[in-house]
Amino acid sequence: MILTFMLTAAWSSAPLATNRPADEAPIRCPRCDDWNARVEPYRLADNTWYVGTKGLASVLVVDADGLVLIDGGLPQSATIILDNVRKAGFDPAKIRWILDSHAHYDHAGGIAAIARITGAQVAAGRNGVIGLTQGRNHPDDPQAGFGDAARFPSVSRVRAVDDGDTITVGHTTITAVASPGHAPGGMSWRWTSCHDGVCRAVVYLDSLNPVSTDDYRFTDHPDVVNALRATIDRIAALPCDVAMAAHPDQLPAATATATSCKAYAEAASERLRKRLESERH
Ligand SMILES: [Zn+2]
Repeated sequence: MILTFMLTAAWSSAPLATNRPADEAPIRCPRCDDWNARVEPYRLADNTWYVGTKGLASVLVVDADGLVLIDGGLPQSATIILDNVRKAGFDPAKIRWILDSHAHYDHAGGIAAIARITGAQVAAGRNGVIGLTQGRNHPDDPQAGFGDAARFPSVSRVRAVDDGDTITVGHTTITAVASPGHAPGGMSWRWTSCHDGVCRAVVYLDSLNPVSTDDYRFTDHPDVVNALRATIDRIAALPCDVAMAAHPDQLPAATATATSCKAYAEAASERLRKRLESERH
């Protein structure tokens, strides 16, 4: 069965009746209101807070010298995320970097507004930069066929990173983990959280779902399938004490035999197997 957790109807970007900036104009989609419901921020690890909405993750990494935010949800998530940063006890003006998982409207849609409000720099995987700066899915994206229906506010300046590249603020270093397959240029991100001499590996997991427009066949794109398989192997092998996924409800709990990263990778591998099997019938 093909996962159709989001793309079931056309989107529209309706201007607000208020004088809100255009980059905060809400995107409408079947699950957007549910995804964007407010939740309270909570601590994931000593230096890490969940500051996202109910269905779209956004994570704050804290260093005494500044903050790093990963993902910006929908355009209408931007003010909720910044409210959550304040509620967690931090000043949004101290956000130095915004890192993107992948350039789709539901994770990158709020980045333009958050970057404008905070003055933070933005970084993404090399192919993610193409999507972010154009405010649309990359031409090689399995969801590229949604065209203008999947547009989101573009980000004018984005630093390109490759697998293993790092973003550093103060004593905190965040490492890019190439995660293409769901979208070109997808990135997971990992860092360490230490407290009282005990350090834990923290991972922000990009989406690994083989989702596409109805007319796209992964079996016609072996390069995409191979990229997704390599991503799955890379994620399964990560040190992973604490994990969050771009869609929090897709993160399985750790089991006796697998960390949550490994369980996440195994679930993705099974979804890919089923997707390829369904295309052959
Ligand atoms: Zn996506």
